[in-house]
Amino acid sequence: MSVVHLVLFSGLLSLVIAVSSSPGSRSILRDIGGGNADQKDKAVELNTTNFDSVLRDTPAKYAVVEFFAHWCPACRNYKPHYEKVARLFNGPDAIHPGMVLMTRVDCAMKTNTKLCDKFSISHYPMLFWGPPSKFVSGSWEPKKEKSEILVIDDGRTADRLLDWINKQIGSSYRLDDKKFENEHVLSNITNYEQISQAVYDIEEATAEAFDIILSHKAIKSSETSASFVRFIQLLAAHHLSRRCRKGAAEILVNYDDICPSGKCSYEESGGKDTLGNFPICGKDVPRGYYMFCRGSKNDTRGFSCGLWVLFHSLSVKIEDGESHFAFTTICDFVNNFFMCDECRLHFNDMCLSVKTPFKKARDFVLWVWSTHNKVNERLMKDEASLSTGDPKFPKIIWPPKELCPSCYLSSDQKKIEWDHDHVYKFLKNYYGPKLVSVYKEKSVIGSKEETNIATEDLTVATNALVVPIGAALAIAIASCAFGALACYWRTQQKNRKPRRSWN
Ligand SMILES: Cc1cc2nc3c(=O)[nH]c(=O)nc-3n(C[C@H](O)[C@H](O)[C@H](O)COP(=O)(O)OP(=O)(O)OC[C@H]3O[C@@H](n4cnc5c(N)ncnc54)[C@H](O)[C@@H]3O)c2cc1C
Repeated sequence: MSVVHLVLFSGLLSLVIAVSSSPGSRSILRDIGGGNADQKDKAVELNTTNFDSVLRDTPAKYAVVEFFAHWCPACRNYKPHYEKVARLFNGPDAIHPGMVLMTRVDCAMKTNTKLCDKFSISHYPMLFWGPPSKFVSGSWEPKKEKSEILVIDDGRTADRLLDWINKQIGSSYRLDDKKFENEHVLSNITNYEQISQAVYDIEEATAEAFDIILSHKAIKSSETSASFVRFIQLLAAHHLSRRCRKGAAEILVNYDDICPSGKCSYEESGGKDTLGNFPICGKDVPRGYYMFCRGSKNDTRGFSCGLWVLFHSLSVKIEDGESHFAFTTICDFVNNFFMCDECRLHFNDMCLSVKTPFKKARDFVLWVWSTHNKVNERLMKDEASLSTGDPKFPKIIWPPKELCPSCYLSSDQKKIEWDHDHVYKFLKNYYGPKLVSVYKEKSVIGSKEETNIATEDLTVATNALVVPIGAALAIAIASCAFGALACYWRTQQKNRKPRRSWN
């Protein structure tokens, strides 16, 4: 066994995964508009049980909560108006995702009585507006001054409701807006605030990558199986989202049952151990919410951008001893599972050009960065000649000077001379603390409970339990073809399975 493997294994042995005490509630967000998109309501139905968790978990900046009663004829007549606006903001087909979460609470349901009382509901429908976090454990009273929760006093038709929202956020949304024709795409002169919006994109890209593997039944051989397992190991140890780390660890623990001898069963099915039953970041990651990676056109950016950001965010967490493992794992992952032939082949060439194993994490971070820049450089030319790029996000050599002046030794645009020490420092900060900064800030202004959940979600938790990481170890060994030993470790791991205490 090589030194690298030894270090990796010892790193994995010390891997800790936190035990969640929060039920979470992203499935509701994810489910918006699912099924028959034409028939399903877009507004999210909330009740006493899920009200706080949905509003805490939404990536949207604002929320509208409609309190209504299902027996109220005016509410029934109002519903199509409300739904017209919700169509713009909610669900995978949202025209302006990530801005406003549109919800409703049925006060005629006995179980919701206390919730409706907290908001002093005096008539139906009654609509409120505010940052989602302000609704969590929140209340509203008519005479309370300076509340961040506002009553929407002019939302009687879809047009008027949208006008009211436009005035609040300075937007110019229209009911007939089409997907991606909006003014809320970011500029590609990325700044620190923008990267913090990538937190959700990384989760979404991870979930999308996993879905692609499922839908293509892409684990086809012992080689692809080992490649998949190594990537999952990397995520279990270093993904910035705790729920993705947890989901990855779950897959590792159950891998023998899901993929006996590397032959996986994929379908989502009740009770059976299949890969589809182990969503990598849990069931609740909202989809269609790319924000940092959102293109100005329907067919640009999104997943591939999210994948790059995932790779960079992983790279800055790697320790020296894992750097070559991380390198080969990402190379193999792209080669086996990134279903874009051109991308795969070019990337593989760049992987093959590395002749000496990485020993330092710094070298690996800089390799991912410079490889990405090589792709940018090539695409700059292609996109200019074919007009296939996103007009609002032309490819650039990155980071631009505006973002990191000290990364540049010379100002000659034709041949940039980099100060690699500064580039490394910049990348560590940008894809590390800066990436999670707003998430944490959001939690700081929220409730204490919210603070705990949010910060734990993105950092190694303090009340962590040692995960039965023998599974990771066993599969790592298996993937190194240590047959009998792997078998032993797997057996050990199976025996330890009941100790898992998340769920
Ligand atoms: C492994 C891989 C290989 C690919 N190969 C190809 C290919 O051969 N042909 C093709 O057409 N498309 C390829 N793509 C897709 C392409 O690179 C872009 O992802 C896609 O065009 C979307 O571009 P974007 O504007 O969202 O920015 P992306 O290039 O996706 O970058 C996402 C974000 O990362 C940041 N960033 C940019 N450059 C760097 C850097 N050097 N270091 C750190 N951060 C950076 C920026 O903030 C940028 O907005 C590949 C994608 C991946 C993940």
